[in-house]
Formats: sequence, structure tokens, C-alpha cells
Amino acid sequence: MATYSDVLLFIGGEWRKAADGATLPILNPATGETLATVAKAGRADLDAALDAADKGFRKWRATSAYDRAKIMRKAADILRERADDIAFKMTSEQGKPQIEAKMETLAGGDIIDWFAEEARRTYGRIIPGRLANVTQLAIKEPVGVVAGFSPWNFPINQAVRKISAAVAAGCSIILKGPEETPAACAELVRAYADAGVPAGVVNLVFGVPAEISAYLIPHPVVRKITFTGSTAVGKQLASLAGLHMKRVTMELGGHAPALVCEDADVELAAKILSANKYRNAGQVCVSPTRMLVHESVFDDFRDRFVAAAKALKVGEGTEKGVTMGPLANPRRVDAMERFTADAVKTGATLQTGGKRIGNKGNFFEPTVLTDVPLEARVMNEEPFGPLAIINRFSTLDDALAEANRLPYGLASYAYTRSGATAHAIHSGIEAGMVSINHHGLALPEVPFGGVKDSGYGTEGGADALEAYLNTKFVTQAGV
Ligand code: NAD
Repeated sequence: MATYSDVLLFIGGEWRKAADGATLPILNPATGETLATVAKAGRADLDAALDAADKGFRKWRATSAYDRAKIMRKAADILRERADDIAFKMTSEQGKPQIEAKMETLAGGDIIDWFAEEARRTYGRIIPGRLANVTQLAIKEPVGVVAGFSPWNFPINQAVRKISAAVAAGCSIILKGPEETPAACAELVRAYADAGVPAGVVNLVFGVPAEISAYLIPHPVVRKITFTGSTAVGKQLASLAGLHMKRVTMELGGHAPALVCEDADVELAAKILSANKYRNAGQVCVSPTRMLVHESVFDDFRDRFVAAAKALKVGEGTEKGVTMGPLANPRRVDAMERFTADAVKTGATLQTGGKRIGNKGNFFEPTVLTDVPLEARVMNEEPFGPLAIINRFSTLDDALAEANRLPYGLASYAYTRSGATAHAIHSGIEAGMVSINHHGLALPEVPFGGVKDSGYGTEGGADALEAYLNTKFVTQAGV
């Protein structure tokens, strides 16, 4: 029988309480009840983690990629074996339906496997010398100790990309996991530990995010920063990293446009976009948010999308048949209420939803707003919740202008049967990812990242490993 228990720090190969014994409560978002506690790291714990990661790096960088990959594949297998238990923990702390939590855990195994394979392909280059006796090499070396910061919306998925890329490259990592959803993330680290990753290579801390980032980022032991979270926080952390000349990967917020053209398969578009809008209660950085629909198919699309929203079964993620759980924390429910009221005030039509459900837990109705004016806050700020906007357009140029209006540039979507229109969209849209006629993002082997205020760097595909590697040039003359 799966259970939920207190979550500890993992430093230097040991699960431990904070040095001063401090903890934070973990709440069940479906009930508001306290589930357990998570250890809250202080300065002494961070110093211990830095020391462990420094030592871990020296050992790990000298371990062959072949051996690193073997341990990683074992960690992937362990994660998969424990998927049911981990999914229960994740749903208890985060709220998402247990089937989504299990899929996330299994996908975590896939991501580890992918990076394990890539570990053995960190090829350098031989560059022809200008003289016959000169050999020139470009060699890839691990960047060093990594400080990673992962959020609460995907407790495994966001953490596994950071840990696995670092470990594959030969780096060590101190991950600051999500305090509100720590147990599933800790289970990911446990899978690595139980697979035999040496002490100090993977370290896990929790605490006050601002205190931890302010201490770790400038610290001389740390050479690389990777963060997933809001654009506002990302800009602060990137500035600090810049000040201290640290490598950075930033995976930040989005406000994804989804263009539904006049020649689209409207049924398919409504089905896929609604399913992805309400997945994880909309707390997804690549969630489709602004549905921009050609006026000739607007009514048909709206009716299908609204019907799909109404058909969702909202409830506790551990209950069978539930398709949308509570929001992860009360902040999101307050934000949904504010966004809805503001949009209606500015002239939007509320098609369905718009209210919190009950007085226990963080439940909010799947919500659809149509004809939302540009000045509404939700047209400009990431909703990060179960709130969809459906607006109309008459020309493709107008739709592209609206898609590109915001400073965000993470995911984008389009539905059209025309190759020429698809080409115009993917070449004209300012986004790190474009998915046309299906939802094809976030596989381990494909790039995952944004442009503009959505950040830089990628957390998927071969480029993701590159972000954890330095290039060293060696030139040698034969004597
Ligand atoms: P927030 O901006 O306070 O925090 C976002 C994330 O950053 C959290 O994981 C938090 O622990 C971390 N964080 C905050 N301040 C930090 C700091 N100084 N140093 C290091 N880490 C820090 O907001 P929130 O209420 O937790 O989340 C709401 C917003 O965050 C959403 O609207 C969304 O835009 C964004 N978000 C994005 C993602 C993503 O996948 N890109 C994930 C979670 C949250």
C-alpha cells in the first residue's frame, strides 16, 4: 500500500534532516490537509551540499561515459518499477490525476535512458592542422558542479531533465527541488542513489528558494545554473548568474498561441487542444492558451471545445475516472478568479466555468472565455491554470501578429490542411517550438525550450547535453 512520508535532504549520498532540524509542511491540494514535512536546508546544509558536489564531480568526471550510462539505465529501470508508488505520492502532493502522474514517472525513465545513450556520444572534433605535424582537437569536458532549480508543476519531469543531462555529461548537481511537491522529486533522486550513483554526484535540497539561489549561484564551486519557473524569477537568476559568469539554461513561462485555420480539421483541433489545455489543470508551460480561430470555423470550434471542457470530471486525482485534479496551490485559484473577473469586466464572454469548486482544496472549474479583448490581463500574463481563451481572426497575417504580440515565445500550435499555410506559420511564428496538426512536444530526443522572455537553451535532444559541456581546444605538434 502506497504511503506518503516526511521528505529529507540528500547530501553526499545520505538522506538527512536539516542541520538545525527545520522543516516545512507539505499540503494535499485536494483537501488542504498536511501530508508530512520536508526538511528545510540552511546555510550549513548548503555548504555540505557544495562540498559533496565538489568531491562528487572530481570522482564522476573520471568515470567513463560507458559506466555512467550503465548506472543511469539502472536508475531508469528503478524509476519505472516504482512508478505506481511514485504516482500516488505525486498525486497526493501535486493534485494531478494518478494516471498523469504515472505517465510522467514512466516518461522520466525514458528521459534518463535517452541521456544515458547520449552520454556515450559526447564527441569532439579533429580539426585539420595547417602543418603536417600538428594535431588539433576540440574536446568536450563536463562544465562542473551544477545548481538546478525545478518547479512544482511536474515534480519529476522538470527535475529529471536537469539531473540526467548533468549526470550524463559527467557533472555533479545540487538540485533545489519543489518544496510544495517534494516527495516525487525525492523518489527520482532515490532511483539514482539506489542505482549506485557515487556519493555527491546527485544532491537534493529544499528550503527558501530565494535564499538558496542567492547562495548557490554566486558560489565559486558552482559553474552552471539551470532553472525552470516564471519569467520574473528567471530574469533575476539569469542576472545573478551573468554577474558571476556562470553558464545558464532558462526554461520560463509561455502563453502559447494555437492557430486554427479555415481549412483545419476542426474536430481534431478541438479535441487535442482541449485535452492539452486542461492536462495538469493547465499548469503547464506549453499549455495552449490563446486559441486563435478563423472566423469561418469559430462557432464550430468553440462549441466542441466548450463541450470538452464541460465533460471533464474534476476531483481528487486519486479517484478513478477523474480527468482534472485540483490546482497545486491556493495562489493559482486566486489567480484564476482574478483573471476571469478581469476578462469579463473588459468585455469577454464567459462560456463555461469561472468559479472555484467547493470550499475544500484548490478546485477550479475548467473555464473558457471567448472574444477576450487585448487589454484583459489574461491576454498578457500566463494564466497557468485551467483557463482557455478562444478569439477569432480573419487573415493569417492578423493571426501571426497576435501570436507574436507577447514577449513570450515557448510553444505554439497550428491546425491547417495546407502545406503552404503550415510553412507560413512555422517560419513566421516567434517560438521555440511549433507543433502542427498534433501535439508532439517534450519527447526526450527533441529540443525543448523557448525564445524571447521564455528563456534560452534547450532541455531536450542532443543540444541539451551540450549545455553541460565545455569545449577545450588542444593543439599538439609532433616533436
Ligand atoms: P514563483 O514565480 O514564485 O515561483 C516559480 C518557481 O520558481 C517555483 O518553483 C519557485 O520555487 C521558484 N522560485 C521562486 N523564486 C525563486 C528564487 N528567488 N530563486 C530560485 N527559485 C525561485 O511563482 P509560483 O506561484 O510558484 O508559480 C507561478 C508562476 O510561475 C506561474 O504563473 C508560471 O508562470 C510560473 N511557473 C512556470 C513553470 C514552468 O514550467 N515554466 C513552472 C512553475 C511555475
